[in-house]
Amino acid sequence: MTDGNVYAVASGKGGVGKTTTAVNIGAAVAEADGSVVVVDVDLGMANVGDVLAVSATEATLHDVLAGDAPLEAAIESAPGDVDVVLGSEDIEDFGRADPAKLREIIETLRETYDVVILDGGGGLSHDMTVPLGLADGVVLVVTPTEASMTNAAKTRELIERLGGRIEGLVVNRIGGAGRTTPEAVGDRLGERVLGAVPEDGAVAVSTDEGTPLVTIDRQSPAAQSFREIGYGLIDEPLPRDWGEEGDSEGAVSEIDDGPAESGTDEEPTESERSWLSKVTGGWLG
Ligand code: ADP
Ligand code: MG
Repeated sequence: MTDGNVYAVASGKGGVGKTTTAVNIGAAVAEADGSVVVVDVDLGMANVGDVLAVSATEATLHDVLAGDAPLEAAIESAPGDVDVVLGSEDIEDFGRADPAKLREIIETLRETYDVVILDGGGGLSHDMTVPLGLADGVVLVVTPTEASMTNAAKTRELIERLGGRIEGLVVNRIGGAGRTTPEAVGDRLGERVLGAVPEDGAVAVSTDEGTPLVTIDRQSPAAQSFREIGYGLIDEPLPRDWGEEGDSEGAVSEIDDGPAESGTDEEPTESERSWLSKVTGGWLG
């Protein structure tokens, strides 16, 4: 496992699945025995606490950024074996928080955890400039819809201007509203596809439970994709234990062979077809 890696999860449009991705990649890294902290860096609209059943008992990120609490006081243990640093939901705290201090906080967390995941707000908000520039890799979440891709392209440009590095794309909600294939999204944005996550009703169930999907329903299609992406980020082989029900192939471990790196055709080739088939449960391939 590579240590001290900081990933920022970003998107163009909001509501495309950043927090879902951040939390589930975190739980996958934890499952692979990595220590991980998910930080809610959306200073205007904190929402990690809406997805995980955890609350700030002593202090929030806003308190730390205001100089009113030490960082340790804002770290909580959450379901999925991840630590979290939650933001305040009180709008009054927004003005007190100094985003410039994020740099020091992120660097401290980098020294403590194997993986630090920064869950940001949608779009080009000012408080994302530090996380986007500081992360070792930005995971850009996009849905296969026109609006999401257009906005992701703008965010990609901003990240480049900030000197940030894009790790790759998570194409979320395949089989939902959008019809573009994951590899076409990758071609359009000129970035590697880390993984495609199917539209999956189990995501809402896990949110209601306040537990990452990867933890409570690891056989669900979306959980399998998130695990694949999480293990891929830390370069760990995915254990071959989740293909229980009728999947004689077992796990898909070679996500680097995804379609983003191969041809530009809309029609998947035979090997792409099987990859797509695996990540979408056969909906596309
Ligand atoms: P963001 O953090 O980008 O605003 P969220 O992670 O909060 O987005 O997700 C927005 C909504 O979409 C939530 O209601 C979430 O449950 C739902 N969602 C995200 N990914 C999926 C998916 N793969 N399948 C079904 N619903 C999803
Ligand atoms: Mg969010």
